[in-house]
Amino acid sequence: MSIQMVDLRGQYLRIKDEIDTAISQVLDSTYFIRGPVLSRFETALATYTKSEYAIGVANGTDALQIAYMALGIGPGDEIITPSFTFIATAEAAALLGATPIFADIDPVTFCLDPDSVEACITPRTRAIVPVHLFGQSADMDQILALGAKYNIPVIEDNAQAIGATYNGVPTGSMGTLATCSFFPSKNLGAYGDAGAVLTSDPELEARVRMITNHGGRHKYYNETIGLNSRLDALQAAILEVKLRHLESFTKLRRAAAARYDARLRNVDGIICPYEASWGRHVYHQYVIRVARRDALAESLKTSGIPYGIYYPVPLHQQPVFQEQTKGVILPETEKACAEVLALPMHTELTPAQQDRIVDTVIAHVNHAVHA
Ligand SMILES: *Cc1c(COP(=O)(O)O)cnc(C)c1O
Repeated sequence: MSIQMVDLRGQYLRIKDEIDTAISQVLDSTYFIRGPVLSRFETALATYTKSEYAIGVANGTDALQIAYMALGIGPGDEIITPSFTFIATAEAAALLGATPIFADIDPVTFCLDPDSVEACITPRTRAIVPVHLFGQSADMDQILALGAKYNIPVIEDNAQAIGATYNGVPTGSMGTLATCSFFPSKNLGAYGDAGAVLTSDPELEARVRMITNHGGRHKYYNETIGLNSRLDALQAAILEVKLRHLESFTKLRRAAAARYDARLRNVDGIICPYEASWGRHVYHQYVIRVARRDALAESLKTSGIPYGIYYPVPLHQQPVFQEQTKGVILPETEKACAEVLALPMHTELTPAQQDRIVDTVIAHVNHAVHA
């Protein structure tokens, strides 16, 4: 079998019977929107993430937009996010007329640098949005302390880190709100688009539910401008099955990461991912740093080894945000964009496949040193 960046089919085959049964139960019930399966999944997700409430939505980008809307964020407001993230974190705020302000990252964890966040705070800041990038929690104590000091809510973008922990608590349980994505390749992946908003505040839960359902608590009575953003029952049924397996899937990812670490840790010129002492890394991606990254990428391509570059262009240098970010320089973010390379990482990765990947990486590095 050729090596894949993610192997959704292999994982499906492990749990095929359970998934197929769950899907046919939904088809039999014809309860396609909302209904008992969604409620069950929401309860299970809230329990797993140690949040009071989980609200299923259509995808992780909507989850961010809905979280921003629930806090009343709009024109003239600013949110602080990392520039080293997927576009959605900032895009959802910009869609509402708010301005994303980009902070730099800690080069060791790739997550928000609290000092950089503090320098971005203004009287217009309405939310701080740490992203638990690649499966590892940001340094939440420091970020929550800033939120408390300036009275600014913290929203955790937990799209990449479900199952990760920080000082013993799950990511997604620490902020005023948190968002999840269940895009198929995420650690908890649906078979289509899906997402969720987490909170432990009953008033915010009610607002979030209302926004996801056309801004109304009761059918045909609309209190606010909302969306049609629901997690459909088929995806909820699939996610309910997969959530039961998430701990064992996380163990498989961590075992694969340990195998990479063991062989790459002492290779000159390669920096392996760092697992901070504050919690469990769930390795949504296994991201190494190399000075001449593009040359390594070229060698991998030649050898038929897949890889990913997350992210090649930081958000503050994207054409879409160019106007508002003139003169912004984020040295650690820019350096990371030039040096990161993600190796294949998924639950089906075998030691033999990893040996092939690592052999190719090491051969390239040795060749580059002696060339
Ligand atoms: C995947 C992702 C999202 C968006 O989720 P979708 O379900 O694809 O809309 C948001 N933020 C981060 C950090 C992500 O990785």
